[in-house]
Amino acid sequence: MKIAFIGLGNMGGGMAANLVKGGHEVRAFDLSEEALAHARENGCETFTDAAEAVRGVEAVVTMLPNGAIVKSVYEGSVIGKAPAGAVLLDCSTIDVATAKTVIAEAEAAGYAMVDAPVSGGIAAANGGTLTFMVGGSDEAFARASKVLEPMGKAVIHAGAAGAGQTAKICNNMLLAITMIGTAEAMKMAEKLGLDPQKFYEISSQSSGYNWSLNAYTPMPGVGVASPADNDYQGGFATALMLKDLRLAMEAAQAADAAVPLGSRAAALYEDFAGAGNGGLDFSAIIRTY
Ligand code: NAD
Repeated sequence: MKIAFIGLGNMGGGMAANLVKGGHEVRAFDLSEEALAHARENGCETFTDAAEAVRGVEAVVTMLPNGAIVKSVYEGSVIGKAPAGAVLLDCSTIDVATAKTVIAEAEAAGYAMVDAPVSGGIAAANGGTLTFMVGGSDEAFARASKVLEPMGKAVIHAGAAGAGQTAKICNNMLLAITMIGTAEAMKMAEKLGLDPQKFYEISSQSSGYNWSLNAYTPMPGVGVASPADNDYQGGFATALMLKDLRLAMEAAQAADAAVPLGSRAAALYEDFAGAGNGGLDFSAIIRTY
């Protein structure tokens, strides 16, 4: 299949390379010359203009920083420029409202489009093991799945347009809450004189069981190997967690959903990132206890 890929950064670079490995012809565009050079090394054909990259393609994939950029790229360079009938996939993490607006604009112009944000970081993007949560019609989902398969280990239809973004931000809000709760409990156990490894052994097999404790233990030398054992380098950056929490708070407000713990988690990550820790893995929040 002939596929345009726009946004070849930390995530998009590896994803585009996996589409090439999957046998697709990839026409790539990014504002960064370095990203384009890297895409060429990975077998993509590169363009200096997004509208040129989408010419003649059957699918367009975008992996961009935020909703404003996604909207401007679709309105300026994709809708009306890609062939009518192409399937459009936005894999960026953006606000639910913009995702719905852009999909409605694309559908009005005769395209099938999905929001398809990802779970999994740079390693999963490079390894082709992302999980995609997809919002859109049944027909758009069926067509998008074929494009997503070489880039992921799971492709899940979340529901109608915007449902992928909703799943993503609700999941990450839950992750932030469980990480903070896990950090709090581990540090409290330690202060009360309990060996943190003993606490891990007990709680990870008891009702305190959760992903942050069991699969991503935030304390160095305790539980499973995780970014904590690498001085909180790599993993999922605090700045990206904060981005997702801000999107979650915006969506909660729009839906009038009560999120007392989500908003507390967002405030704690706001403070932690503001203190210069944005580049550290999000589990480093345990250092504030
Ligand atoms: P990044 O900043 O590394 O990459 C974004 C790329 O988009 C850059 O190469 C930039 O030059 C390009 N770009 C910006 N404006 C553009 C435009 N108008 N036209 C073409 N290209 C443009 O970011 P990333 O880490 O790859 O993240 C991309 C998206 O994936 C974000 O929405 C992020 O929230 C989401 N995400 C990231 C991770 C992660 O671990 N990095 C995990 C899950 C989801």
